[in-house]
Amino acid sequence: MNRGFPSSCGCGGRITTFTSGTQDNPGRPFYRCETRGEDHLFKWVEEAMLEELEDVLPKVEVHETEIAKMKSEIEELMEVALNNKIEIQKNKTVMKCLVVYACVVSVAFGAYVFY
Ligand SMILES: [Zn+2]
Repeated sequence: MNRGFPSSCGCGGRITTFTSGTQDNPGRPFYRCETRGEDHLFKWVEEAMLEELEDVLPKVEVHETEIAKMKSEIEELMEVALNNKIEIQKNKTVMKCLVVYACVVSVAFGAYVFY
């Protein structure tokens, strides 16, 4: 039998949800093939729900692990970006110093040439 919520019976028949009216299971919902009989699907809804949950939980755990991995990758990238920003700031300062130095040198050289 397939796990989880049934979509169709082995006979190809449609599945319908019913509510039990028996003394043992009053008000308990179940799935059943519209063609009744021993060879046709019968399944309690809560059993199907439990199977769905059991099947989906390992996937959720995998997703949690993947998310944690992504988070640490993002943190690493943020650190790299911050370091690059600091490096760019340093280079800007060096460039400013070089420009000032070049100006001073050219003014001094100009003064040397004209006098
Ligand atoms: Zn059936």
